[in-house]
Amino acid sequence: MSTNHTELVVLGGGPGGYPAAFDAADHGMQVTLVDSDPKLGGVCLNRGCIPSKALLHVAKLINETHEAPEWGLKFNQPEIDLDKLRNWKGSVITKLTGGIKELARARKVTVVNARGSFVDSNTLELAHTDGSKSTLTFDKCIIATGSSPAMPQMFQINDPRVMDSTGALELPDVPKSLLVVGGGYIGLEMGSVYAALGSKVTVVEFLPVLLAAADRDLVKPLQKRLEQHFHAIHLNTKVEALKATDAGIEATLAGEGVEPKQVFDRVLISIGRRPNSKGFGLENTKVKVNDKGFIVVDASRQTSEPHIYAIGDIAGEPMLAHKATREAKVAVEALTGKPSEFDNIAIPAVVFTDPEVAWCGLQEHEAKEQGRNVKVVKFPWAASGRAMSIGRTEGLTKMILDPETERVLGVGIVGVNAGELIGEAVVAVETAAVARDLAETIHAHPTLSETMMESAEAVFGQATHSYRPKKS
Ligand code: FAD
Repeated sequence: MSTNHTELVVLGGGPGGYPAAFDAADHGMQVTLVDSDPKLGGVCLNRGCIPSKALLHVAKLINETHEAPEWGLKFNQPEIDLDKLRNWKGSVITKLTGGIKELARARKVTVVNARGSFVDSNTLELAHTDGSKSTLTFDKCIIATGSSPAMPQMFQINDPRVMDSTGALELPDVPKSLLVVGGGYIGLEMGSVYAALGSKVTVVEFLPVLLAAADRDLVKPLQKRLEQHFHAIHLNTKVEALKATDAGIEATLAGEGVEPKQVFDRVLISIGRRPNSKGFGLENTKVKVNDKGFIVVDASRQTSEPHIYAIGDIAGEPMLAHKATREAKVAVEALTGKPSEFDNIAIPAVVFTDPEVAWCGLQEHEAKEQGRNVKVVKFPWAASGRAMSIGRTEGLTKMILDPETERVLGVGIVGVNAGELIGEAVVAVETAAVARDLAETIHAHPTLSETMMESAEAVFGQATHSYRPKKS
């Protein structure tokens, strides 16, 4: 078995791992990037963020053709060429993953397509795709092995009609009926795709609400629209069993007023993700794993082994690509001996449904839970000229401020392009902007970004385009 040595090994080439490898190489380190997937980019590029957003783009287009008659435009029912759609999605992934490979080559990062397992704290055994094995010793390591879809035993009925998010993104067909188990962001995004393509989508959520982590004011307009696009949304409802039958997958559902036995052509299980911390020899190192399976790290992303760092989904919530990428920079800075901490206060969360939901920083319900006194201002998009001109006035921009300093502590947005709009809010929260900064900054007209300015104006009395008579 051959043995090689590297200064830094990065295990996992997702949005945590590959930016870490690139950044370390840019800092002059000799870097080896190991991933068992032949395509770099991790879950995000191959079976997460990117393919789901490509399909959501198509879904939005289809939905707009249905709404266009209101504006005097009539389209025929869109014809869906599934092969072409799959190929287009695949081509987006191929371009991006190919680009990463090129960037790795340009930076002289050695990319190894193999599964790595720790033999000890300075040695990895690499199992290559051709069946051969080799040994890699290292001075330093960054673990970025990510996460996988949670699939409880009760749903593992060994039938391809029961899918996880990876299976659903493959778009095997457009089932007549689809049961989505879990009303989190992945379930709602994928449910939206299939509903637009023509499936009758039923969402079952165990909790009394969709998108449990989000502000209720933001979820309300989304839920209203999803209720029109989905066949049914059952909250407070449990899936007790799944059974494969010739007619489809029979689901046993327990919820008030919910038909207890229902048959679906396909089922998507989207109830969360689990960190990939098992099965690659972490126990042969001193790296500690907590009871949820996340690697325990400090503020600089250092593990209990001082020369081993961990970033991304494996290092804890929120499991988001941009959090992984930021952690990559923090860990590399620390590895190069500089003082470094993951001290960001605003990690944006975006749900790419239609409308989109996005938030960052402190939310109103979190302030309540913390017993913290905050000022809340809201700007309804019904008063936005831009929202009106695109026929989408259901949105809302909501700002959470410190009542004394008027510092912007958090922002929540629901509406078209909320995911893009939240960028300004993240900068405001992260740089400790106060309401006056946003209110007195010129925002282009007519844009949805004006809703940020107008909600900040509301802190000082009235927003220009929204008047609420004062209570006498
Ligand atoms: P991953 O992307 O999981 O990459 C880990 C890599 O490590 C993989 O390539 C894997 O092959 C490799 N690996 C694991 N173990 C080993 C080993 N022992 N040896 C070698 N290689 C190994 N996040 C967002 O921010 N925005 C979104 O819109 C979004 N949408 C999503 C949609 C879906 C359907 C899903 C499933 C996820 C989505 N996410 C989104 C989450 C996002 O994909 C993850 O947060 C992100 O990919 C985590 O990056 P990571 O680098 O930590 O790990």
